[in-house]
Amino acid sequence: MNYKDLLDITKKHGSPLYVYDSEKIRSQYDRLTAAFSNVKNVKINYAVKALSNISILKLVNSFGAGLDTVSIQEVKLGLLAGVHPSDIIFTPNGVSLDEIEEVSAMGVQINIDNLSILEQFGAKHPEVPVCIRINPHVMAGGNTNISVGHIDSKFGISIHQIPHILRIVENTNMNINGIHMHTGSDILDVEVFLYASEILFDTAKHFNNLDFIDFGSGFKVPYKEGDIETNIEEFGEKLSKRFNSFCKEYGKELTLGFEPGKFLVSEAGYFLARVNVVKQTTSTVFAGIDSGFNHLIRPMLYNSYHDIINISNPEGRERFYSVVGYICETDTFATNRRINEITEGDILAFKNAGAYCFSMASNYNSRYRPAEVLWHEGNDYLIRKRETFDDLVKNQIEATFFKKQLVPA
Ligand SMILES: *Cc1c(COP(=O)(O)O)cnc(C)c1O
Repeated sequence: MNYKDLLDITKKHGSPLYVYDSEKIRSQYDRLTAAFSNVKNVKINYAVKALSNISILKLVNSFGAGLDTVSIQEVKLGLLAGVHPSDIIFTPNGVSLDEIEEVSAMGVQINIDNLSILEQFGAKHPEVPVCIRINPHVMAGGNTNISVGHIDSKFGISIHQIPHILRIVENTNMNINGIHMHTGSDILDVEVFLYASEILFDTAKHFNNLDFIDFGSGFKVPYKEGDIETNIEEFGEKLSKRFNSFCKEYGKELTLGFEPGKFLVSEAGYFLARVNVVKQTTSTVFAGIDSGFNHLIRPMLYNSYHDIINISNPEGRERFYSVVGYICETDTFATNRRINEITEGDILAFKNAGAYCFSMASNYNSRYRPAEVLWHEGNDYLIRKRETFDDLVKNQIEATFFKKQLVPA
């Protein structure tokens, strides 16, 4: 899709708006599966939390992907999208035994990441196959907000606790059918990932009834020109070889699993916002848009970089702008960024807005969450309507001690 398409869609559906390009999601999926074409059984489970719109779940499922879920609500969204429970894996952290049992009863693969729940679940349901999430203690990237494999991480069961895992499995006679890791969202170095994979293979040898090994995610995508990204092709070649040799050693064709979120949807997404005000101060030119971190929190939360294009004036001469939001809070999207000259009313397109953008949106400042559009084979499909005032008040209940009841708007 091009900037003209984006501009037309924004004119039609209004701003702020999220638009997703199905073709890009497809090509990323194909690229990943092609990299592992030498492995007989590969299963890609799309990480729902990246972008959980039901149409997106249906789309990736139509390619052959299953789902990776972290809450019972995500599982329910998947089922609503028509995904078969056997195509869903539940990888929660810190959720109750009750929730895990409820999801398990739906026929979804359970992945347990702590010894306490493992023991309780195993004692009650020894017949249910369970996957174990391991923490290999490998640092992926340098940002501790997104590195979940390091020593102090709350995720996974430490590899140093394998003897304890084995004792629980033996005592409960439970059935371990998968081994899993997810080391974080920032893997640049293929060698680091392969190193962590070796730890997973070593762990796998302790269990003789496995069906799969799940390598989680951590694929990096480019956010700006010149960014390094995970070399999927090199990675696929190396890990495939090693996986196949492990299967031989293990004596069974296991399934190789991944759970990409960002890799599949990040680059497919655009966030469109309208410039309300151009404000010149003594030092800066601010472009104030009809949005804020309530709609796209990644720049403020993770200091993420999102490319911004003025699609109303893509050929205009470049000037420096700080792009900020309209909420009453510092909500800076970009500082001193070169952008084609901006006039009030122009539409700015934020790139890489597919993953962790809409799914993290809120109603802060009592604003409506944006609408979402799926661009598919040259057509725009509204897949979530913009919220209305009703959405803001529908769960609110007036305290009954007020004598005078509110007048409906
Ligand atoms: C978030 C998450 C993913 C997806 O991570 P990306 O960086 O978006 O690919 C995969 N697996 C688990 C368990 C997760 O929590």
